[in-house]
Amino acid sequence: MNGFEGLFGHVPGYLLVFPLFWGSVIFFGLVIARHLRIFAAVRAAGPSPLAEVPRRVGGIVRYTLLQTKMFKDPRAGVMHFTIFWGFVLLTVGTANIVTGGAIQAILSIPAGGVLWAAISALQNVVAILVLLAVGYAFVRRLITRPPRLAYTRGALIILGLIGGVVATELLAQAFEAARFGSIAGAFLADALAVPLGSLAPGILLGVFGVLWWAHMVIVAAFLGYLPSSKHLHIATAFFNVYFRKLAPRGELPAMDLEAVDASFGLRTLQDLGWKDLLDGFTCTECGRCTDACPANMTGKPLNPREMIMGLRHMAVDAERGLDLIPNSPIIRAQAGYDDTTPNPGLLATAIVDHAIPYDAVWDCVTCGACVEACPVLIEHVDKIVGFRRNLVLEDSRFPSELTGAFRNMETAGNPWGQARSTRTDWTTGLDFEVPTVADLAAAGKLDEIEVLYWVGCAAAFDERNRKVARAFARCLDAAGVRFAILGQEESCTGDPARRMGNEYVYQVLAGGNIETLNRYGMAERTIVTACPHCFNTIANEYGQLGGRFEIVHHSVYLQGLLASGRLRTAQASDPDGVPGSASSSRSITFHDSCYMARYNNVIAAPRDVLGALAGVELREMERSGKNSFCCGAGGGRMWMEETRGTRINVERTRQALATGAEVVATNCPFCMTMMKDGLAEAGANAAGTVSAADIAELLADSLVPAVPTGRHLPVLQ
Ligand code: SF4
Ligand code: SF4
Repeated sequence: MNGFEGLFGHVPGYLLVFPLFWGSVIFFGLVIARHLRIFAAVRAAGPSPLAEVPRRVGGIVRYTLLQTKMFKDPRAGVMHFTIFWGFVLLTVGTANIVTGGAIQAILSIPAGGVLWAAISALQNVVAILVLLAVGYAFVRRLITRPPRLAYTRGALIILGLIGGVVATELLAQAFEAARFGSIAGAFLADALAVPLGSLAPGILLGVFGVLWWAHMVIVAAFLGYLPSSKHLHIATAFFNVYFRKLAPRGELPAMDLEAVDASFGLRTLQDLGWKDLLDGFTCTECGRCTDACPANMTGKPLNPREMIMGLRHMAVDAERGLDLIPNSPIIRAQAGYDDTTPNPGLLATAIVDHAIPYDAVWDCVTCGACVEACPVLIEHVDKIVGFRRNLVLEDSRFPSELTGAFRNMETAGNPWGQARSTRTDWTTGLDFEVPTVADLAAAGKLDEIEVLYWVGCAAAFDERNRKVARAFARCLDAAGVRFAILGQEESCTGDPARRMGNEYVYQVLAGGNIETLNRYGMAERTIVTACPHCFNTIANEYGQLGGRFEIVHHSVYLQGLLASGRLRTAQASDPDGVPGSASSSRSITFHDSCYMARYNNVIAAPRDVLGALAGVELREMERSGKNSFCCGAGGGRMWMEETRGTRINVERTRQALATGAEVVATNCPFCMTMMKDGLAEAGANAAGTVSAADIAELLADSLVPAVPTGRHLPVLQ
């Protein structure tokens, strides 16, 4: 016998496998095509498949083949990795069956069949591993039940199908070996066949046939169930990762307010891009995003997983009336419309209040912990800000506290509504002059500065953060860095306005700042700031409006000054030792700002600065670095009441106090305010036991007295 008759002639009714399998493939394709009709009906915008191909392919290797993000939870990571790769290997056997043995014929050519035998042996091994992994998954879902998982019947069905498909394949092979003799390479099936050998040949053949067909029926059922289950991510994750956002994570989508067809944010499915829908169809419901979400953890209604799943449910709802086979005459006769396009009415449901509650939209601190946690790279923050944009710009529907903040930013150039004339008040008390670029330009000495210090509104107007600004200026002065500030010409970068959804106010502020910076030639210079929000906006977002500047965060700048020797800290053995802190030991815990650590990957620099201080013992919080927990002030939450659940800064303070450290170090003015308030609420700093301090303050207090040559500030006449 030749061909598949030689390979599968002993399988009862083998030829029926072709209509069964390929019929289910066609059904799978039709359901996917129906999903895609909704994709085609939304805004066309989406990433180009041909842009940055190597980087996109690299992401596929990293995130889908190696599944690096899954290993943040090591046990779940190993389980998922085993199931995924085991399934891929076992699919070779199924593919061989449904192609009439073509795969085996090809893979048996090299080395006289050794390769195929090796694959068979490997399949036996992974079958056991996959069954163990599926067993572990059942234990998690039915017994240990981690809180982050969603306990749906669908998840159990999928696990049952995976387990069934693998178990039937292995057992069918064992009965096949018992009835027809050893199978090359399938050592485990051969071993299982030994005790079965005593059964009558008819029984062996009958059980083999039942198991073989059970395997194929489960495969077909899996294909039929997949497009409407969360396990569709098996197929969509590759596309979602390939088309992931490649722009800096801290860059919100651009918005052309002048465009004739401008749409203001995201209101309905039609305002989404197709990639947003792909996000929904790729969500695995793993709950990692919700588990990482500080708003959810502190009892607020925001649940990032439910939001993404809500978008998916809305998209599936919008398929109502669409027949599986496009333009079916039955549908046209019954529904009275062309079923190739979705019913516009079903696409027009508002997302807010359906996929996400209104309050939840405003609970988000835009910390990005959800995005960082998501193993399939779903973007939550851009969508939430998109909802805010629509609520603010089209409906004027936002928390009442924001009215004042918007007005203050628009009229006074800062969210607190402080007078511009007080922007330089923080310099009072310094024993050196801090010039403005305007003064230097007027004196023809602008070229003499090394850096522009972008102070930011918090450091300019908030009393506690003014101390940080003075400390940073003292560090610059001690290092002999020639610097200047914009003074009254500086305005809020617009970060809070943008993240609160007021793109109009953001663009006014950003446009003004870009114009000012360009007027003084700052595109050719370095800007340094101690504010992560100012940093992120100027570094990652001003480019959308034509402003391209080199900006460095103060933690990186101070790290550089220490590394180059321009700053030196007093050590216990130092004969020049500075009195006080340098000689005493302190335990410090560092609170990572979301916009530095998570959004801009600045993690080592602040720790290096703290590491340069004498006698410091750094105690890390459980959530640190990229996994940091927000202070509660991002996304404009600094200007909103926190009335739902417990306060996020109180929870973060609890985490900091759990380290037993005496100092909570920060590198962000918002974090400083929130940690200071959190410590006060906990009674920790009122009792004088724990204090909050910026890294610049800790460094300034530990410096060896000023460099002998002094600071080289231009002297103004
Ligand atoms: S950005 Fe932060 S607060 Fe907002 S949904 Fe994500 S994790 Fe939650
Ligand atoms: S959005 Fe990502 S992290 Fe959240 S449940 Fe879905 S797959 Fe998991």
